[in-house]
Amino acid sequence: MPKGGKGEAAKCWPVEGGPAAAVGRPEGLQAGGLGQARKGGRQCMEATPSLACANKCVFCWRHHTNPVGKEWRWKMDDPLVIVDTAIDQHTKMIKQMKGVPGVKEQQFLEGLSPRHCALSLVGEPIMYPEINRLIEELHRRHISTFLVTNAQFPDRIKMLKPVTQLYVSVDAATKESLKAVDRPLFGDFWERFVDSLKALHDKQQRTVYRLTLVKGWNAEEVDAYANLLGLGEPDFIEIKGVTYCGS
Ligand code: SF4
Repeated sequence: MPKGGKGEAAKCWPVEGGPAAAVGRPEGLQAGGLGQARKGGRQCMEATPSLACANKCVFCWRHHTNPVGKEWRWKMDDPLVIVDTAIDQHTKMIKQMKGVPGVKEQQFLEGLSPRHCALSLVGEPIMYPEINRLIEELHRRHISTFLVTNAQFPDRIKMLKPVTQLYVSVDAATKESLKAVDRPLFGDFWERFVDSLKALHDKQQRTVYRLTLVKGWNAEEVDAYANLLGLGEPDFIEIKGVTYCGS
């Protein structure tokens, strides 16, 4: 539901747009968002500056092997190192596709120059203390940024520099179901969630609510989801079903 006028155009999920994206797919990202970028975007790389988050979601594809915490307390890489390494790794993945049947030469070459970056994958990217420098560095290299936050750090959303498209994961529509689905670390998780949606409202940029629906957990609260729309007034709503990644 684009409403326009806000300028240019997380939860975390598995890599979908890796090397296979170089195989004869249509042009990648135009204005369709993360899903389109991932599925068709040979020039879309994925990266996360923080493996950690403040949740233990029931559908976490990392099966809870990633660290959790309420604040950053880990070793930190410089943003330049992260960007250089991300581009290097993306390029290595693309190169593995050289000579594979169906890979078109021109698209293979395009894939060596990423133009979009999904900052999600796993963890909570805005926990990373240097997230704004990281975003600046990506933009300086003419790489657009698609950042997904899991709605537990409203103050970090407020201080975040404009990204190309800002996503907030809306994993449930009521306090009870959010607790059951996300299993958050914070005691005031619901207030943080609501404040995150309000913070989204105040960002002068393109925004998205991202819903991951799990049958029997969070898919039935339609009216409650509708009530949340007024808090953030996102430009788009992305709805996806949970992807089973094994037990
Ligand atoms: S927010 Fe954390 S627990 Fe939830 S899916 Fe992402 S990495 Fe997994």
